[in-house]
Amino acid sequence: MASQMASFNPKNVKSIGVYASGGDAPGMNAGIRAVVRTAIQRNLRVVGIIQGYTGFLKKEFVEMELRSVANIIQRGGSILKAGRCMEFLKPEFRQTAVDSLRSAGIDALVCIGGDGSFTGAQALWQEHQIPIVGIPGTIDNDIYGTELTIGFDTAVNTALDAIDRIRDTAASHDRLFIIEVMGRDSGFIAVAAGVAGGAEDIFIPEHPFDMESTVEVIKRGIGRGKMSSIFVAAEGPKPGRSYELANMIHKKCGLEAKVCILGHIQRGGAPTATDRLLASRMGSAAVEQILKGQCNIMVGIKGEDLTYVDLSECLKKKKHVNQGLIDLAKILSN
Ligand code: ADP
Repeated sequence: MASQMASFNPKNVKSIGVYASGGDAPGMNAGIRAVVRTAIQRNLRVVGIIQGYTGFLKKEFVEMELRSVANIIQRGGSILKAGRCMEFLKPEFRQTAVDSLRSAGIDALVCIGGDGSFTGAQALWQEHQIPIVGIPGTIDNDIYGTELTIGFDTAVNTALDAIDRIRDTAASHDRLFIIEVMGRDSGFIAVAAGVAGGAEDIFIPEHPFDMESTVEVIKRGIGRGKMSSIFVAAEGPKPGRSYELANMIHKKCGLEAKVCILGHIQRGGAPTATDRLLASRMGSAAVEQILKGQCNIMVGIKGEDLTYVDLSECLKKKKHVNQGLIDLAKILSN
C-alpha cells in the first residue's frame, strides 16, 4: 500500500498513547516526559503503554499525570519499559492491538523507537488509520531522516569513557587493544567513539574487514616507535567478532591484541544533555504534530532545527556513516 505523510482531523483526538519499543536507549524517559507534559498542557488525556507492542496486546495501559513523569529526565532506560513483540508482525495481532486501543479510548499514538518499531507504527496507520508520530529512540543512530537519534550521544560518551580508561592501561603496558562497541548493522557509534577516542583504525559492519590496511596501520605505528594502539570495532552481526580480528592480527603481525567488549553498559546510564534536549524537543513536537493533524511522520533533527519526515521515507532509505571520519581517524593517529 502506498504510504505518504498523512493528515487527519485532529478534532477527533482527545487521548493519546505513548510507548517505547525495540531496544531501550538513554533519553527515552526525557521523551516520555515531554510527550506527557505537552499533551496534558494541551488538554489531552495521555496513556502510557507498557513494553511496546506487547502492552498493546496485553492491554497494559497506565493513565499518565503530570507527576507520573516527575524525576525521570535524568534516568536511563524507559519507565514504560521497551522491548520486542514478534506477534505484532502478524496482521491478526495488530487487529487485536487496535481493538485494545479503541476500547481504551486511545485516538493517536507517539512511538519512541527504531525502524522496526516505526514499521509496526506505519502498519497501524495504513491498516487501521490510527494516527501516529514517531520519535527516533535508538543508540545506533541508524535512522534515515535525522542527524541524531535519542540515546546515541550518551552511548558514544559511555564508549568514549571506556576507551579513555583502556588507553591508560594500554599505554602503561605497551599493548594493542581492540575495543568492541555496539552496532549490529551500522558503525555510527564505532566511528564517533573511534575518532573522539583517538583510535588508529575503526572497523564497521558496512565495510569488509581490510586486513592489509590494518597491518599497514600497525606497522606504520611500530615504525614510528608507537608502543600502544587502540582500535575500535562495531560488534557487527556476531558480538565477539573482535576476537577473530585479534587472531588475524596475531597471525599477520605476531602481535597480541587484547579485546575489550563493552556490551550493554553502552545502553545504560544517565542521558547526556544533548540526548535530554533532543528528546524533550522531539517529544513535545510529536504532540504538536498530532494536534495539527499530521501523522505517519517521524520527528527528526537537521542542524538546529526539527524536521518532519515521512515514515515510509525513513524506512526505505539508508543513512550512511561518514567515510571521511574513518579516514580522519587514520590521519590523526599518525
Ligand atoms: P527497533 O524499533 O529498535 O528497530 P525492532 O526491530 O526489534 O527494534 O522492532 C521492535 C518491534 O517493532 C518488534 O518487536 C515488533 O513488535 C515491531 N515490528 C518490527 N518489524 C515489524 C514489521 N515488519 N511489522 C510490524 N511490526 C514490526
